[in-house]
Amino acid sequence: MIKLKEYIPDLKVLSDVEYYDIRLERRFITTVIYHNDEPREISEVVQNGGCVRVLFNGGWGFSSFTNLDNLTDKVSEAKSLASNVFNGRSKILSDDKKDVKITRLGDKNPADISLADKISLVKEAGNRLRANDNIDISNVGYSDVLRQVVLINKFGTLIERDEVLTRGFVKGISMKTGEPLSSSRQANCWRGFEVFEELMDKIPEVEEEIDYLLKAENAKGGCYDVIIDPLLSGVFAHESFGHTSEADFIYKDDRMKEILKLGRKLGSDAISIVDGPINSDIAGDIQYDDEGVKAEETVLLDKGVLVNHLHSRETAKMMGEKLTGNARALNFYYPPIVRMTNTYIKPSKAKLDELIKEVSDGLLIKGSQGGMGGEMFTFSAVLGIKIEDGKLTSPVKNLTLTGNLFTTLRNIKAVSDEVKMFSSWLGCGKNEQGPLPVGLGGPYVMIKDALIGGR
Ligand SMILES: [Zn+2]
Repeated sequence: MIKLKEYIPDLKVLSDVEYYDIRLERRFITTVIYHNDEPREISEVVQNGGCVRVLFNGGWGFSSFTNLDNLTDKVSEAKSLASNVFNGRSKILSDDKKDVKITRLGDKNPADISLADKISLVKEAGNRLRANDNIDISNVGYSDVLRQVVLINKFGTLIERDEVLTRGFVKGISMKTGEPLSSSRQANCWRGFEVFEELMDKIPEVEEEIDYLLKAENAKGGCYDVIIDPLLSGVFAHESFGHTSEADFIYKDDRMKEILKLGRKLGSDAISIVDGPINSDIAGDIQYDDEGVKAEETVLLDKGVLVNHLHSRETAKMMGEKLTGNARALNFYYPPIVRMTNTYIKPSKAKLDELIKEVSDGLLIKGSQGGMGGEMFTFSAVLGIKIEDGKLTSPVKNLTLTGNLFTTLRNIKAVSDEVKMFSSWLGCGKNEQGPLPVGLGGPYVMIKDALIGGR
């Protein structure tokens, strides 16, 4: 097979442009999804292609293609599209040349495992779930992406990737009470088939959570002091705070520009939020973004003070701030936009027990079943445990956490000492560019006067 970088054409025609980047990509995607023992999707898809993006006279041109021949024409086409932008005012921030090879294939390369073996393991996971008397329905998904990517840009950067992303979910649903009660575990990592095997080891956690839900009473809505678990604190960090920190959204909105001025105290001293690589295989660890900028650890909120936004080359230049390495594209069909990588709340020194002791009438809330993010948020939790006089008591179900981002940041009173990170099947879906692999997490987080919706 010809190496991707050998397709890169002569780029003389781009010598007078302000910026360009070219991404060439080969992907082989396998997906297996079962509902009970019925297949919902079994597919193997090959995607080969690339894209050229050009900034010329302040206007952007973007051309995406699925045939790697005649790239000289495609490069000229992107430049001509850029020159047609009337009154373009875009500018970008430059950086140094990078020459990097990233290889992440994991222990068990999915290319060496047959589709039949992948199907059989997905079916086995479903059978294991349904072998539990309390679980009536199983949903199990497996997917791997083998990808090779070459990125070059105007500054001479060359980034070559040879990577495997494996993801999966195992979900059990009980209908024993007449309403669906569900629990799931998910994974999305830059490793091989072992990611799904490790996920199967979490089936007992699903069974335990379903048992717990069957004993739970419905939550009563109201205003409570709550402690949210690491998954829900990660969902809050990503969905509510993280998306609000994305500079492409801020710099077009005068009201948010004012509210989100750097240096503003937005939260209590207890809350610090970071985005960036964590030197792991979790989905958001990208090392370099799709503009060839090194992904940095970016402290967004430091003890409640807003200290950075998330940027692409363009938004960093437009807002006079530094590059953060957050321009990402789902694949070669899209130009990069400002996206998160791994977004998490920083820990403190307090133990979870110490947080619980401080709550006289409240709830410990666990897990996430989706919801809406942004400045006003609502997240559905999986389950709750009442806290009475500093002690965990009985389980509750059917609860939502609702709030305003800024009020909630001010009402965070404490966080615990241990961060757990998560990555999900669906990742992030901003502007329809999903599922983009991201990671999220945090410690346990105590919020005063949180609004809980129940039944
Ligand atoms: Zn998102």
